[in-house]
Amino acid sequence: MIVTRFAPSPTGRLHLGHAYSALFARDAARAAGGRFLLRIEDIDAGRCRPEFVDGIFEDLAWLGLDWETPVRRQSAHMDDYAAALGRLDAQGLLYPCFCTRAEIQAEIAAAGGAPHGPDGPLYPGTCRRLAPSERAARIAAGEAYALRLDMAAAVAAAGPLDWHDRAAGRVAAAPQRFGDVVLARKDVPTSYHLAVTVDDALQGVSLVTRGRDLFEATHVHRLLQGLLGLPVPEWLHHGLLTGPDGRRYAKRDRSLTLLTLRESGCSSEEVRRMARGHPSE
Ligand code: GLU
Repeated sequence: MIVTRFAPSPTGRLHLGHAYSALFARDAARAAGGRFLLRIEDIDAGRCRPEFVDGIFEDLAWLGLDWETPVRRQSAHMDDYAAALGRLDAQGLLYPCFCTRAEIQAEIAAAGGAPHGPDGPLYPGTCRRLAPSERAARIAAGEAYALRLDMAAAVAAAGPLDWHDRAAGRVAAAPQRFGDVVLARKDVPTSYHLAVTVDDALQGVSLVTRGRDLFEATHVHRLLQGLLGLPVPEWLHHGLLTGPDGRRYAKRDRSLTLLTLRESGCSSEEVRRMARGHPSE
């Protein structure tokens, strides 16, 4: 049974690009006689707003979508992410990182630069090298810390992995290009990579459809699945819908939210047609 999902973050109103992605996931489930889920990715309490959650429900219902209830909201499932972190910690693959952004930048500048990964310069590994006694003392002193994955150790523990994307075919996982990713932030006890991987497994998602801007992230998700013994779905990363100016839609384009289109008199049918437009290759 194919299970797909649309997993927006309630940090703004949905725009046409979201409509494309939601319809894509729903259509993929429908074409296979499968199930379509909606998930609210609201781990970032500083940026997510309840009114945007309401807006997601309102906009998607207006577009003509329906989804299974109850809708999973990540903020209500921190225990699941803590359990996954516990399993990784038991394998010795996590370490606390006390660095601030400024300290990381200073360290990279002092070293004359750092290799770049898909998310920017790689973490130089400062806190990976701390002595256990220093870690314990800083934690005992109440210093805030993130949890990072020791990428080299994780890749060695997991062995070679690959994954299947319906558009790109078989892909050899290369998560090492991300360096020691943060799996629990200082302010939130999880991260995008961890929460999305745990949720897709717990919800039985078998086909992850999402924009090609998240293609690289799948290397990390595949690694986490390997380390946590989770089922491995298939992926289908779709092109991103672009506006008449050739730029992809983004939350900054306020005028193109589904709300403003609706308020300016567009019917849901017209918006569905626009949203099924021509994603970039
Ligand atoms: N919540 C993510 C976003 O809004 C999407 C997560 C995913 O599809 O994996 O960009």
